[in-house]
Amino acid sequence: MIETKLYDLETDPFEASIAEAGKVIARGGIVVFPTETVYGLGADAMDEGAVAKIFEAKGRPGDNPLIVHVSDLAQVETLVKAVPEKAKRLAEAFWPGPLTLIMARSDRVPDRVTAGLSTVAVRYPSHPAARALIDAAGTPIAAPSANISGRPSPTKSTHVLEDMIGKVDAILIDADTEVGLESTVMDMTSEPPTMLRPGGITAGQIEAVIGKINLSPNITQNVIPEKAKSPGMKYKHYAPKGAMVIARGSDNEKAAKITSAIKGLPPDARPAILATDETMGLYRRGLIVSLGSRDDPESMSHNLFARLREFDAMGVTHIFAEEIAMSDATMALNNRMYKAAGYTFI
Ligand code: AMP
Ligand code: MG
Repeated sequence: MIETKLYDLETDPFEASIAEAGKVIARGGIVVFPTETVYGLGADAMDEGAVAKIFEAKGRPGDNPLIVHVSDLAQVETLVKAVPEKAKRLAEAFWPGPLTLIMARSDRVPDRVTAGLSTVAVRYPSHPAARALIDAAGTPIAAPSANISGRPSPTKSTHVLEDMIGKVDAILIDADTEVGLESTVMDMTSEPPTMLRPGGITAGQIEAVIGKINLSPNITQNVIPEKAKSPGMKYKHYAPKGAMVIARGSDNEKAAKITSAIKGLPPDARPAILATDETMGLYRRGLIVSLGSRDDPESMSHNLFARLREFDAMGVTHIFAEEIAMSDATMALNNRMYKAAGYTFI
């Protein structure tokens, strides 16, 4: 256990808190900070020893590389060999924001950050505290999501306190994160570029800027990928403690499947149903919770990880989630739900 300093960005003086946290990073420590996607756990990306502490605190497998966060475009130049033309156009359109670009790395990036790959993942976040922290640290910050590996990513400061107290040097407490799902990851080293992970920026938005892209098979095939191009995609992710399954079919079919599955559970089971505002009324038994309105995919995305953690806190043993109709706007949400359920469908 190490001593974790807490700074509340909503009540403590902002500048002073950021300055302190920046010093912690500059000295080789690790700091949890808010971003517009989910909370991140950051270290000086150029300090191999500091980066190693991130893997230890999260229990993250060493072959799962980290995203490097920058607060200006000049920092990108130090991380990569060159910025490809299409990457420039995406950066112009979506940075700062929830988009990660994978490019050939420069020799200066430590192997620990990229898990020995010849590429590096770079993102310029829009959250003011994230940007201020990178500025204060005076170095790009390598940061994965600030959860214990395998658990749902943290979208509320309470999630971070749950997972990271005693494991990190400092935590910047802030409001709930806006997007609630991680960044979109685009491999810019292939032609056309390939989406490795759907996220805050949709495939449609990206294609509007650079034309046709490929979707990695781990997005299009609903199975656990054997050997994923994005190493992180092969691990069990976002997993709530309860066993989660996704019900498919028409609304009535989903409700019938879920209702009959719940009837078959042992008496000590605590089942929960993850429905929508529009379908909650179809259920009578179990803990019935709405992910949000089908008319508002952004808010369903914003809510997902928090709902999964609420189920954990309530001791839910079985989660029955309705499948959400696939569209450009729900691709990332569906990807996280499928993963949370370990690709189990009824
Ligand atoms: P996280 O920071 O926990 O949201 O995870 C970062 C994601 O980006 C993981 O899925 C990583 O595998 C992926 N990633 C990071 N760097 C690379 C890279 N150089 N090539 C491919 N995928 C990467
Ligand atoms: Mg993560």
